[in-house]
Amino acid sequence: MKIAVVGTGYVGLVTGTCFAETGNKVTCVDIDQSKVEKLASGEITIYEPGLEKIFLRNLKEGRLKFTTSLEDGIQEADIIFLALPTPPGADGAADLKYVLSVADHLGKILKGYKVIVDKSTVPVGTADKVKQAIAVHYKGEFDVVSNPEFLREGVAVDDFMKPDRVVVGTDSERARKIMGDLFAPFVRQGNPIIYMDERSAELTKYAANSFLAMKISFMNEIAQLCEKMGADVDMVRKGIGSDERIGKRFLFPGIGYGGSCFPKDVQALIRSSAEVGYQFNILEAVEKVNAHQKLHLVHKIRKYFGDQLTGKHFALWGLSFKPNTDDIREAPALEMIDALLTQGATITAFDPEAMPNVRKHLGDRIQLASSQYDTLNNADALIIATEWSEFRTPDFEMIETKLKQKVIFDGRNLFDVKQMAGLGFHYESIGRK
Ligand code: NAD
Repeated sequence: MKIAVVGTGYVGLVTGTCFAETGNKVTCVDIDQSKVEKLASGEITIYEPGLEKIFLRNLKEGRLKFTTSLEDGIQEADIIFLALPTPPGADGAADLKYVLSVADHLGKILKGYKVIVDKSTVPVGTADKVKQAIAVHYKGEFDVVSNPEFLREGVAVDDFMKPDRVVVGTDSERARKIMGDLFAPFVRQGNPIIYMDERSAELTKYAANSFLAMKISFMNEIAQLCEKMGADVDMVRKGIGSDERIGKRFLFPGIGYGGSCFPKDVQALIRSSAEVGYQFNILEAVEKVNAHQKLHLVHKIRKYFGDQLTGKHFALWGLSFKPNTDDIREAPALEMIDALLTQGATITAFDPEAMPNVRKHLGDRIQLASSQYDTLNNADALIIATEWSEFRTPDFEMIETKLKQKVIFDGRNLFDVKQMAGLGFHYESIGRK
């Protein structure tokens, strides 16, 4: 099939590359000229494990192209995917200006039947708005389908190539058949394509992300209780996770959820619930707990060093919002950095992939080191904000030699509490004694 993907960010680039990988001819469109130039010349613009190899192969074999022209990009396409940003607007609701302006533009340039697919996370009713925006100028036949994306950054290629399920929201038989054919190679192992109406598909995405955010906030509250009651959250996690109704995944406490999806999607669902006169109480609590949890480690640091941190210097490991990505949007590390700098501290940080993005975001407000161990010189404590694998079994002797004091604040529970006590570290983690 011939496919256009409009918006070539984390979702669009993975979507375009993976569709090319199954033999489709894909053109990715983006308004960011430098991004398009880099991609067209074979330079990948995001860090996503496994993506570069298939990106380069499909580029070389001519199945993957890049352009800044929407008109050129969609000309031959049977299906047009919209993988555009839907950031929170001033009131917290998802801002649809990117999606609707492209829909308006499409209305002016469409020629003949095409399926337009909302892959962005969009509020209920957006497929109707997209239809209306296109129909202002285009009087021919077309269908708008909601096909929310469930990939996780860090394992996005696997998630896209072998999805747990594909959700397709459409009332059109014609669009349903086209989407079914397109996704058939991705569901050969029997995972379902779940067909539904557009509105249910749109709400499914928000419900999924909000449920996962709720699981995280719930465990973070259990961790708070563990600290106060002398219980161990690792034991409680194992104890409840072995119940199949609860499940083992997403039960790890930490320093709150971040990233480009959970915070904005929780906020957007609260907002769109309010618009229909419903107060989503659980989600309001989820947000409140998360805001508190993001600063939990800072509270521990201030309890240990005192409220004024002037003259204190910290080593920080991990900046991305989770491991295996360079994405720093809403990363808890950034909030911690802000709080520590405000209290007068200085910071040297390391992250395997996210440092270029942090440099753009923070300028020289913190120092960046070329290795995890180079952060430690003259630091009063080590802080861990992201659970990159390479931080899991570090050289503790080296840490001890370089740090001014043997103090570690671990927001991801990477180390064994007894082992750390044995090594003589003052070690604080989340929800453990
Ligand atoms: P992103 O910011 O990484 O990418 C968006 C891209 O769209 C950018 O490259 C931007 O330059 C481009 N763009 C903006 N306006 C444009 C226009 N008029 N024409 C062409 N290109 C334009 O965003 P993302 O993380 O890929 O997210 C896209 C959507 O997918 C969002 O709705 C998000 O909620 C959803 N989503 C994201 C993830 C994720 O893990 N990142 C997962 C599932 C769903």
